[in-house]
Amino acid sequence: MALLSTQPRPCTDPNCRGPHAPAERVALAASLCGTRGVQLTELRRQILELLWESGRPTGAYDLIEALKQRDSRPVGPPTVYRALEFLMAQGLVSKIESRNAYVPCTHPERRHDSLFLICSTCGASAELEDQRLERLITEDAAQIGFRPTRRVVEVEGTCAQCIATGAS
Ligand SMILES: [Zn+2]
Ligand SMILES: [Zn+2]
Ligand SMILES: [Zn+2]
Repeated sequence: MALLSTQPRPCTDPNCRGPHAPAERVALAASLCGTRGVQLTELRRQILELLWESGRPTGAYDLIEALKQRDSRPVGPPTVYRALEFLMAQGLVSKIESRNAYVPCTHPERRHDSLFLICSTCGASAELEDQRLERLITEDAAQIGFRPTRRVVEVEGTCAQCIATGAS
């Protein structure tokens, strides 16, 4: 498979705004799973590839449809949801709750919280990591004695491309 020849290159730029080549990110995911002793099975890898190829938040049923076209072997929703759970547990995929859709994490090689900017016009999303935001949430939560475990902020708006083309 062509992907196997791609070398993973962990990103060292803490302020990285991407982009990264999908094949390299999938290779990185495979190497992370290897290091952690967990299996990136063929289905899990295919779902990750599809999410990278899609370039926008993708729902489980769109994934099932894409898998069917790719493989002709139908895959049931529970199987796909289990694979997504695995990918999320490994930090390889994030769920955009407001869209009920999934995106691949840009930097699974490092622990981070996520700020998602979601375009209401074209549906594209961008993930940003911002240390200031993480600190702010932690400090605010601490003021009321709350201990956050998962911090995901979703911001709706219009992306630069849609603003440029006057789509909204
Ligand atoms: Zn990067
Ligand atoms: Zn991420
Ligand atoms: Zn847009």
